[in-house]
Amino acid sequence: MASLPWSKALENELAARQLAGRYRSHRLRRGAQGVRIEIDGKKMLSFCSNDYLGLANHNDLKKVFMATAEQEGVGSGAAHLLTGHSQAHHDLAAALADFLGYQRVLLFSSGYMANIGVLDGLLGKNDVLLQDKLNHASLLDGGRLSTATQRRYAHTDMAALERRLEQDTMGHTLIATDSVFSMDGDLAPLPEIMDLASQHQAGVLVDDAHGFGVLGDAGQGSVAHWKLSSEKSPIIMGTFGKALGTAGAFVAADETVIETLIQQARSYVYTTAQPAAIAAATLASLKLVQTESWRREKLQALIAQFKQGAAQLGLAIMPSITPIQPIVIGDDKRAIDIGRAMEAKGILVGVIRPPTVPEGSARLRITLSANHSEADVIQLLDTLEHAICH
Ligand SMILES: *Cc1c(COP(=O)(O)O)cnc(C)c1O
Repeated sequence: MASLPWSKALENELAARQLAGRYRSHRLRRGAQGVRIEIDGKKMLSFCSNDYLGLANHNDLKKVFMATAEQEGVGSGAAHLLTGHSQAHHDLAAALADFLGYQRVLLFSSGYMANIGVLDGLLGKNDVLLQDKLNHASLLDGGRLSTATQRRYAHTDMAALERRLEQDTMGHTLIATDSVFSMDGDLAPLPEIMDLASQHQAGVLVDDAHGFGVLGDAGQGSVAHWKLSSEKSPIIMGTFGKALGTAGAFVAADETVIETLIQQARSYVYTTAQPAAIAAATLASLKLVQTESWRREKLQALIAQFKQGAAQLGLAIMPSITPIQPIVIGDDKRAIDIGRAMEAKGILVGVIRPPTVPEGSARLRITLSANHSEADVIQLLDTLEHAICH
């Protein structure tokens, strides 16, 4: 048996986790992804996917995906720098660069790998990496793997960031921040971060996983939302697994940064390229993102409806203009109980506990999708009212 000599210790840790109400386990989805899903054999109205624009199960994407797989096969066969880089990857990268108004775009197989790759590729041992305390795990892990000195600043606290920037460094400084924080839904103040960075000759990396496709008039993401000028735009990391409904990620930057990543980012060099069919489907998705602005408009209307309804119920909503709408409950077990009560009524929301969020801030993480209807949001609010207020 593939056990370990310290299995007993692992079992004890697992038991302790279970007691603390922090055990993670899979749930089994059968059938299509969407707002109505079957999970663990029960039909649910789901408010916990990142399919913000409702594209994950769109026919255009499926057709292109299947046609490309028919022509090229399923696997890409090799890393990008060997024979894995297909015309579909090339076209997707070019379309993204054009859409975002950036010189170059580099594709990665996931957002996790893109963040690790950028930090690894751009920073060395004399350099300093400054991170918002609530940054996504992939940025924090990238910082741990990097040889640079990592320092964190209090969440969106610009005075704290400035103090960090004033500390002496021998090398270069990179500020890394989520644009939309994944567990809070709030925005990083990018204009202020860019100003501070330019005053201190620091670079900026923005993780736009939750902004890309959702924010900005055509869905270009946070840079468009904040109307940052091209001289003041950061390096952008965006993912395809959220609003675009596919899988994978990209980094947008200038020629020099991208060429450096191709040489030095180990999570780019030493991994199999994402399947060409995914790249082709992502390009089809990007077209829908650009042309079907009704998806963003509908999403914004649902967000407004939810926030207004939740405020009327006296629920502790957060200052989020994004489809991530958390309700902080506090106690882990109470959050779990509320989540269960909602499930019993057929409503699925994320129940997020430490260490994903700070101690004492367990929460329901509600995410909205353009595929939800007004009636769905009313049903969600009714169920929240019964589960929390009664
Ligand atoms: C989901 C997410 C990632 C990771 O992207 P994957 O493509 O799922 O690996 C990175 N950053 C943030 C903020 C995310 O929400």
